[in-house]
Amino acid sequence: MNAYLSRVLEDVKAKHSSEPEFVQAVEEVFSSLEPVIDRHPEYEKVDLLGRMVEPERMFTFRVVWCDDNGQWHTNRGWRCQFNGAIGPYKGGIRFQKNVYAGIIKFLAFEQTFKNSLTGMPIGGGKGGSDFNPAGRSDAEIMRFCQSFMTALYRYIGPDVDVPAGDMGVGGREIGYMYGQYRRLKGVWENGVLTGKGLSYGGSLIRPEATGYGAMYYLNEVLKHENDTIEGKRIAVSGYGNVAWGIIKKAAEMGAKVTYMSGSDGYVYDPDGITTKEKIDYVLQMHTVGPRGVKAYADRFGCQYVAGEKHWGAADVDVCMPAATQNDVDLESAKKIVASGVKYYIEVANMPTTNEGLAYLRQQKVIVGPAKAANAGGVGVSALEMAQNSERLVWTAEEVDAQLRKMMANIHKISADAAEEYGMGYDLVSGANIAGFKKVAEAMMAQGCF
Ligand code: GLU
Repeated sequence: MNAYLSRVLEDVKAKHSSEPEFVQAVEEVFSSLEPVIDRHPEYEKVDLLGRMVEPERMFTFRVVWCDDNGQWHTNRGWRCQFNGAIGPYKGGIRFQKNVYAGIIKFLAFEQTFKNSLTGMPIGGGKGGSDFNPAGRSDAEIMRFCQSFMTALYRYIGPDVDVPAGDMGVGGREIGYMYGQYRRLKGVWENGVLTGKGLSYGGSLIRPEATGYGAMYYLNEVLKHENDTIEGKRIAVSGYGNVAWGIIKKAAEMGAKVTYMSGSDGYVYDPDGITTKEKIDYVLQMHTVGPRGVKAYADRFGCQYVAGEKHWGAADVDVCMPAATQNDVDLESAKKIVASGVKYYIEVANMPTTNEGLAYLRQQKVIVGPAKAANAGGVGVSALEMAQNSERLVWTAEEVDAQLRKMMANIHKISADAAEEYGMGYDLVSGANIAGFKKVAEAMMAQGCF
């Protein structure tokens, strides 16, 4: 590895030894950048890479809330404003009990390059809390969201930092947070959050956008390979918002999701999750419950395997991890390769360990990296911001057409970047390089900052 790159990487490892996910994300991006840094020796003098791995700012705050029994609780909240060189910080908020600073930092770092790939003017940010929403009443969720926003509202704004949803944060939470923001600020600034309800400035297609975008991206990959989406059997992990969008669009495109998983195990539906009744049930499972995929198997009479992952199952053409980070490790990657799968499209953020990813790529599986394939979600968030700024509402067709264009372009600029640096059809390196280059150029133009 280039000496400057490895020096910065060693420094990141030393400084962040207790934040392995962040180190992993930096290592993954840096593993693609050698030819770019070789071509741009001027980056070292201005310490471009050192700046790139240091958030512009990151803060922690206390979130106190009262449960339905009158018991008070204290949680931690974070917001990381990683890089604002190409636009206001933009990225979701995650509520999950295992969230800590390292998770928020890795997500915000990834978000910087992902947002750059969308072609929209949005910088990288992310936030969250170690609050566990499982089993909490609606009133408790509302009080938590209000308290979270009370701590955060001074530091965000439509031209400053625009949070949205992520795991544990959906339309309901965004509504409560926007209500509190409006109450505190006394202004109508609905561009401060995305993923809003349609009645107060949300965008059509936003709930579906991450999954739809991933399917459009997969379609571009298939076109490149002279292959077609028709009849493809897809294994997804997760059954949340992202998996649901994939399931819905796959059915529409003539493909089918046959495997789906949750933290309880996985289900195999050989007919595919293709009917409206099944798709609506998946939506219900992750919004109101019941939680876990066993409920799906019980309802539709298909196979359920407790406590296992489906990676490596036979009869699968495309794997799409859509649950959470490090879902697919080296062992799972080996099973996937052994099963003969040709396409592996990451849809969750960093769903593959670096060892797993290296193995898949060595074995010539075509890998679509998360920061490209799942960029449709934040991409449509940027379209929601555009609609809020112009105080207009676009039709579903308009938003969908923009999303399709965006995903095709992400695929193209990634493939082109890899080609330019002599890497062939390598979408992982291509996405890292294309995402990096725009941010790097903006940072170079803006001077010492
Ligand atoms: N949380 C989503 C992501 O990982 C969406 C962020 C947004 O819409 O700002 O990209």
